[in-house]
Amino acid sequence: MLSTCTHLSSVRRVSYDTANFDNGHLSRTERSERMARIRGRDTKPELAVRRLLHRCGFRYRLHRATLPGKPDLVFPSRQKVIFVHGCFWHRHPGCPLARLPKSRLEFWLPKLKDNRLRDLKNIRRLRKLGWKTHVVWECQLPDLNRLGPRKGHTV
Ligand SMILES: [Zn+2]
Repeated sequence: MLSTCTHLSSVRRVSYDTANFDNGHLSRTERSERMARIRGRDTKPELAVRRLLHRCGFRYRLHRATLPGKPDLVFPSRQKVIFVHGCFWHRHPGCPLARLPKSRLEFWLPKLKDNRLRDLKNIRRLRKLGWKTHVVWECQLPDLNRLGPRKGHTV
């Protein structure tokens, strides 16, 4: 899906080989960004995707509470949903932004594992209900933002 306006399929993929799994030192800025990401609801990445879709003229609904996982964007007529996920909180596989903090792993690991399992469960449930699902990861947004509306594109 979204192979058109947003060209999501061509979005840069994070290489599993080169991704840095090292949970090295985080600067103060990185740490506060990470904490903000955790507190918020992936607000910034979601807004970026919404702006892009809006520029492309797509119509969608937000956070439909009745659907599993409350997808960030819902395209009812196409039976498609999009989740916009922060890489750390939602455990983007192999992504440098998902590096684990160095300390308090006993605190983070169960929480993060729960998140990942919950996401997978929601996607399974949505698919069973006939919805097509797509995840846009936070680290893909710089690429998305370079893309603009083009003629004849559909979701
Ligand atoms: Zn990522």
